[in-house]
Parts: sequence; structure tokens; C-alpha cells
Amino acid sequence: MVNYLINKWPEYFQPGITSKKKRIISFLLAFFLTFITYQTILEIVTVEIPIFGFHDIVNLQNPQEIPPQRRDSPGDYSQQNLEPFLEDLVIHNYWFLSTQELYEYFIANPKKPIPSEYRGRKKVMITFDDGNESIYTHVLPILERLENKYGKKTKVVVFINSGFLGHQDSLIKKVTCQNLRDGMQQGYYDIQSHGLNHENLTKVSAKALNRELSEDQIRLRKCTQDLDQNRTVASHIAYPFGAVNKQVDKYVAKYFYSGYLYNSLKLKLRFFPANQYRISRLTVNKKHSTKRLSSLASGSWLHKLIGK
Ligand SMILES: [Zn+2]
Repeated sequence: MVNYLINKWPEYFQPGITSKKKRIISFLLAFFLTFITYQTILEIVTVEIPIFGFHDIVNLQNPQEIPPQRRDSPGDYSQQNLEPFLEDLVIHNYWFLSTQELYEYFIANPKKPIPSEYRGRKKVMITFDDGNESIYTHVLPILERLENKYGKKTKVVVFINSGFLGHQDSLIKKVTCQNLRDGMQQGYYDIQSHGLNHENLTKVSAKALNRELSEDQIRLRKCTQDLDQNRTVASHIAYPFGAVNKQVDKYVAKYFYSGYLYNSLKLKLRFFPANQYRISRLTVNKKHSTKRLSSLASGSWLHKLIGK
């Protein structure tokens, strides 16, 4: 259509052009301009919130942490790339959202005034699934270094399977309750649920499903009881394997305010209230460079232009 318009445009001013041709060109031009305007307005009113879904973090400088010493998992991400990515977000003054903040200000009540310290800042959420020990040994030191260097506190969301707390085998180590408490006490962790035993919630009986949800919440809250005055721990869940269906919805709503997917999409909030049990997350794997992650965080050229 664009080519047609470009080719036909000069004819528009020729005295010999028929009124029928004129009408077609006018119609196509109007259609094209309306489409561009609609897309631009849609972009401007859209609030994009990139939520990054990490799993295990590996230190590539430690021979014990790379294959064949360790299993090769596509979801692994290197500490060496994670640090510059997080540093870039800190330098650009991103608001590291907690699950409760996302829920309160953007989903449950989008008209609720944002606290002045966060106003006008770009938004991001950094999440780590499965409660691997690396969220303590590899992620926490990065957050500490960044705080010391820039004087800014960053918060990350950790989705935990409390059934595995403190587990250790030859392949993988999991965080302990004490690790979680340390991270929370220092203000770095937002501790949320990932189900008790990392079961696919769409494939278990109703009874097992209920236990996966309720028991995980009980254990995580018990572990952090004295640190969690506002009851924010285990109020939100990331579905193991991103799997969810109607039955899961029914049970999840009994215990949690919101539920996170793992669908490689950016959360986009537009005119309609978002479904709090279908929050999109961007999947991260070792193929993503630091630059690529930073570009995903900063959004479309238009959002960059208007500083959104
Ligand atoms: Zn998981």
C-alpha cells in the first residue's frame, strides 16, 4: 500500500487524473494515516513492564560450575553477564518493583498515586525461580556491590519451592531458610511462592494442588514470620513451568493475589484491567547478552523518545 501511494501520489496533482483514482488514493492515504496514528496512541498509552525470569546463576570463572563438572542447563545465566545488566539498570535509575508494588499500583488499583520517590522512573522486575543457592551466593554479592557503589538498594523477587529448602545433591544446592532470612533482612529479597515441590499444577489432583499452594505459603511465612510485618511473603506465585488452567486459577485465588507466567512476553498494561493471574514474564537464558537484556528493559524507540 505504501508503494502504491508513493507511485500514485504525483498523479494526484495531474490535471488528467480521474476522480475515481483520486478517491482511491485519498481513501488509502486516510487509512494509512489512521493506522499509524492508532498505533502511536496505543504505544503511548501502554505501560510496559519488563519482568525478567532468571533461574540458576553460574560463575564462569569457577571451573566447578561449568560443564562437564556441572550439568548444562539452558536456563542458566552467568554472574559475569548478570552484574553489568543490573548495573545498567541501577545507573539508569530503574524502579525495581516488588510483586506487591506491581500488584498495588498497576494491577489492583492503577489510579493509586505512585510514591514520589518512584514517580517518573522506568520500571523493571527481576525474578529468580526455583530457590537455587546461587541467589544467595552469586546474586546477593552483586546487589551489595551495587548498593555500595551507587548508594541505591535493589530488590529482586525470589520464587521459592519451600519443599526443597536446604536440599543438596551432587548436581544442585538449594537455599536454606536462613539464606532467605538474610536476603530479606538486608532488604534485597521479595520472597514469593513457586509451589511446595515444583509440581506442574495442571497435572495434579485437586487435593495435591491445594497442598502445593497452601503448604508452600505456610512454610515460607513460618520461615520469615518475625521479619514480615506487612505480610508480603508468599502472597504471589510463579506457576512452576508457567503451567496454569481453570482449576489452578480457582485454588490459586484462595491464597495468592497474583500469578506469574513464563511466556517470553513483556507485561503490557493498556485500557483494560490486567488479569492478575496471567502476569507475563520474559524468559532469560544464556544466549541473551547483557546488551540484549538492557534493550528489552528499555522498550520501544517511542517509549525511549518519550522517556516512558
Ligand atoms: Zn521453576
